[in-house]
Amino acid sequence: MSSVSLSEPGRDLAAGAGLEDAPRYALAVDLKPGRGDVVARMRANLPAPGEQVELHFRVFAGLPDLDAGLEVDDIMVNGDAVEADVDGSLLTVPVPESARAGRVEVALRFSYRLPEVESGGGILGGLGDTLDPAAVGLLARHQGGATLGHWFPVWLPPASAAEPIPDGFGDIGNFPAAVFRARITVPEGFDVVSGGVNVEEQAADGRVTFVEEGVGLRDLGIFAGRQRANEEVANDSATVRVTGPRSEREQLAPVGEEAAASLATFAATFGAYPWSELDVVSVPLGSGVAGMEWPGMIWIESGTFAGGIAGMGDLGDLEEIFEDLDLPPELSDVLEDLGLDEFEDLGLPGLEGLGSTREFVIAHEVAHQWWHALVGNDSISAPVVDEPLAQFSACIHFEQAHPDDAGAACALHTDGQYQSMRALGEPDAPADQPTDAFTSSLQYGGVVYGKAPGLYRALGAALGPDAVLAGLRAFTSANAFGVASSDDLRAALAGAAPERAAEVDALWQRWIEEAHGDEDLGAGEVPGGLDPEDLEEFEDVLEQLLESAGGR
Ligand SMILES: [Zn+2]
Repeated sequence: MSSVSLSEPGRDLAAGAGLEDAPRYALAVDLKPGRGDVVARMRANLPAPGEQVELHFRVFAGLPDLDAGLEVDDIMVNGDAVEADVDGSLLTVPVPESARAGRVEVALRFSYRLPEVESGGGILGGLGDTLDPAAVGLLARHQGGATLGHWFPVWLPPASAAEPIPDGFGDIGNFPAAVFRARITVPEGFDVVSGGVNVEEQAADGRVTFVEEGVGLRDLGIFAGRQRANEEVANDSATVRVTGPRSEREQLAPVGEEAAASLATFAATFGAYPWSELDVVSVPLGSGVAGMEWPGMIWIESGTFAGGIAGMGDLGDLEEIFEDLDLPPELSDVLEDLGLDEFEDLGLPGLEGLGSTREFVIAHEVAHQWWHALVGNDSISAPVVDEPLAQFSACIHFEQAHPDDAGAACALHTDGQYQSMRALGEPDAPADQPTDAFTSSLQYGGVVYGKAPGLYRALGAALGPDAVLAGLRAFTSANAFGVASSDDLRAALAGAAPERAAEVDALWQRWIEEAHGDEDLGAGEVPGGLDPEDLEEFEDVLEQLLESAGGR
């Protein structure tokens, strides 16, 4: 594994993880961002099917909500044409008996049209379906470019759940680490950024082809955009490459510094970053989602990227905050009418931490490079593995980088999110559930992002923070480029203090399997003395504030 995509420590991890047997994808895509047309060919070289009579692939573009007009044809298995079946986002390819003994190559052609997404489109929408992956803009065209996540048929190992239309909130995917080579052709004037590294660029006839390579990635996220500006920040761990609109040129360096600083914290705390590059890209995302992770790349919603709120600390005036967060001004009028124009009037802890939203979102998404990219997990059935760890990691980074502000920033995004959920009347729930088992995206956020990170604080109080971090380092190296379940994580934490394993397990039980959030964190309360109509309006504002503050 000598690819330029891996860092030096990444090469050692890849060799130890047996990545030479990983799936290998060769992709060639003709992308017209303006119209959203995607026309592509794929060759996937996969592990021997053995007993399997068919192979499954997830084709996100087939989700009915996307209405993308997916077509898959010209399907061959080891060079022989086969008839495959597309049902929703599930592609099923039969494997002839003769092709089951050794590695198998599936070749096919696919095409679809990217749906259009409006940045921040969910801000005024209701909760409940707001984290529908189709509405977030993972696979979308927009003014000035296109975002492609889960954009090609991704092979699902036999143990994966293979329903036609996966349900649930948040991220989608539990894909094995793989090896990628992709040729991405776009009209001249477009820049292409991927989770891999660029190894070649060729221009001909008004088109430009970017050749991207990546090793150990679970998906190859792509961004294509016009009139982009770039800036690189290099440190010992990797080169952080930031891409944003030219109009936000002055944000490139601070975003790069914030990402590089958290990358350095996590490399020192959890183990080396496995890739040579990390791309940070400003993209429009819908549904009030502030950030999204891909292996080797993170997307930051363009409003959040543009700064959200400059600086930290002195944040009293809600009207300014709303302006900075790009929230509708009517919302601050509502609060003013209610006599609530200062943060403390909102009566919820940690809201002053809003000033750190961009940096917290960046740290959260960078942390996903360890929790989800390097150590994989099923983000639909077990979001409890990566999301609380990404939150906890962001808090660790803040404690190191901004000791004075860490308390408020961390409280807003963790405890405060739980308390606000309770103030809005949602009950507590066990954190270890599939995303679709939560009653709403508000409860999912409050419990998984808000309450569950408290486990690591509780473990730190019981065992000492160093023991917890040592346990997480061991968890990372044992599962690098693999996929970990919540039981694996639970066992790794117990292994951090073998003589006190029962105590660790009891804490896991309490924070992750049961519902003691009110006892452990307290339930928030909305300000007293509001009549029911005002209360409803207040709750509406609070929901939107929560949405605008969240990375995923
Ligand atoms: Zn996340």
